[in-house]
Amino acid sequence: AERLTGRTALVTGSSRGMGRAAAMRLAEEGALVAVHYNQDEAAAHEVVASVEKDGGRAFALRTELGVDGDAETLFTALEAELLDRTGSTDLHILVNNAGVMGGVPADEVTPEQFDRIFAVNAKAPFFLIQRALRNMPDGGRIINISSGLTRFANPDEIAYAMSKGALEQLALHFAKALGPRGITINSVAPGITRNGSPVFDIPEAVEYMAGLSAFNRVGEPEDVADVVAFLATDEARWITGSFVDATGGTLLG
Ligand code: NDP
Repeated sequence: AERLTGRTALVTGSSRGMGRAAAMRLAEEGALVAVHYNQDEAAAHEVVASVEKDGGRAFALRTELGVDGDAETLFTALEAELLDRTGSTDLHILVNNAGVMGGVPADEVTPEQFDRIFAVNAKAPFFLIQRALRNMPDGGRIINISSGLTRFANPDEIAYAMSKGALEQLALHFAKALGPRGITINSVAPGITRNGSPVFDIPEAVEYMAGLSAFNRVGEPEDVADVVAFLATDEARWITGSFVDATGGTLLG
């Protein structure tokens, strides 16, 4: 049975990768999904078309995150779309998935790169949550996509890992504040997960990356999307403020 019928969801960065898979899963569970993106309009529309082909409901929503006023811009557009489709501006589920990596060794990161990574990965989610709480009914769900790199060393991604460490703080403190409203907030940490990156076309690279998982394969976007979808349901009502390891055992060492 569909577990999210009558709910509305926003998945940031859902034009591709894990965000796309999460949008598809939430729609499959009956939610009306806002497929948010920044640059790739065609990809976002393809996600909406795929949802609709499967009998679900979705719409595309463009906003650049990591710039001044991003949350307000996004929510002004989102509220109009929700009102149009549901007669209400209620948002039940927020998935903060959009993120940027650095890929720059620690001794080369510029202040501008550092600021951009923090603006998109940590600051934007904070203000999206702050803004979303005006629209979120009791029992709502907030899910932040972190990374196994908050617990797995990689000197080329220190700034990125720092930003995800900051993101994880949101679950701890907001969980306490939002408990009385029945709203849960959790962090999901993927390990290496197949996205559109060309590195997944190089067999030797994939073999190495697969070896980091206890299951000896790289993660598929759906592996993470299923965890996100579960946390969005009523069945996850007793889980809040937690760090969910969705790395396929990578953190076992
Ligand atoms: P992708 O890199 O495949 O996609 C990123 C998505 O975020 C796209 O939809 C993109 O939109 C959107 N986006 C990026 N920057 C912005 C911005 N400034 N404003 C608005 N939207 C933006 O994502 P992945 O599936 O690889 O990753 C999803 C999340 O998981 C990220 O937070 C990432 O840090 C995290 N993660 C990924 C891992 C991996 O191995 N893939 C491992 C651990 C964590 P558009 O293309 O339209 O610009």
